[in-house]
Amino acid sequence: MNYQKILEDIAEEIKPHLKDGHVADYIPALAKVDPEQFAMSLTLFDGTQYHVGDTETLFSIQSISKVFTFTLALKFYNNSIYKRIGVEPSGNPFNSLVQLEYENGKPRNPFINAGAINMTDALVKHYKNAELTYKEVLNFIKEIADDNSISLNDVILKSEKEHGYRNIALANLMKSFNNLDNDVSEVVDIYFKHCSLEMNTKMLSRTMLYLANHGEDPISKKTHISQRQAKRINSVMLTCGHYDASGDFAFNVGLPGKSGVGGGIVAVVPKLMGISVWAPALNEQGNSLVGTMALELFTTKTGLSIF
Ligand code: GLN
Repeated sequence: MNYQKILEDIAEEIKPHLKDGHVADYIPALAKVDPEQFAMSLTLFDGTQYHVGDTETLFSIQSISKVFTFTLALKFYNNSIYKRIGVEPSGNPFNSLVQLEYENGKPRNPFINAGAINMTDALVKHYKNAELTYKEVLNFIKEIADDNSISLNDVILKSEKEHGYRNIALANLMKSFNNLDNDVSEVVDIYFKHCSLEMNTKMLSRTMLYLANHGEDPISKKTHISQRQAKRINSVMLTCGHYDASGDFAFNVGLPGKSGVGGGIVAVVPKLMGISVWAPALNEQGNSLVGTMALELFTTKTGLSIF
């Protein structure tokens, strides 16, 4: 298959839509990003990469970090993690408080904000130290991206903290239901740090290889998680990776995927490749509008959906 040609065709087809959608503005630093950018990368199991667009440009990974915190929480806690977290789609916005209240402080899944804050709490409990938790998650991301240069953007971090009212409220609500072990501000702080990491589509497509290959990195041959755990993460990505548009994403793209409000999306083609796409303007549910479109075009042109 001529992947390069397919990527170039996609880049042409999405061009007229780069003006659609809106960049996230509830984190003011994200509102400053030029919306008319686009990048898409594929990484195969032998490390071969295909790129189109602004694939060197770093952007805020935001909720894509939720895949990595869930991976580590599942690795350390295995099935006991499900005492504190569910695996059902929420059908609600990613930062909604309502469902968390009537479901007694147990987040629906690890890919909405409450769920990821909870997974961060589980990791702080595991590592017994908040700052170490940040570092270990970052080290894991560097390892699976095979890139040591990854770091966080201080301006975004500051902006997230200054406007983190809903996330702090979600953490407090979980704490009130005894579903948060550590100090609220300490946990939320680490969650914000993971969201503020900057990467590009080259790096992010590389990170998905362990999920495409039953938990083992096909290049380094390192086993990060079990086959069963990899299956679980892919399943939750498929059903919950795009918040209240998860059904729509599964319907149109047909791949496990995870979005972030920085406009990035990662996706997994089982047994074949990792994909990442970036276009900062979002749809109403907070997922990259053109990114979703590009992935839909990709699976349509290649036939590489899981169905
Ligand atoms: N840092 C963002 C927040 O907490 C992440 C949300 C997202 O990417 N959907 O609101």
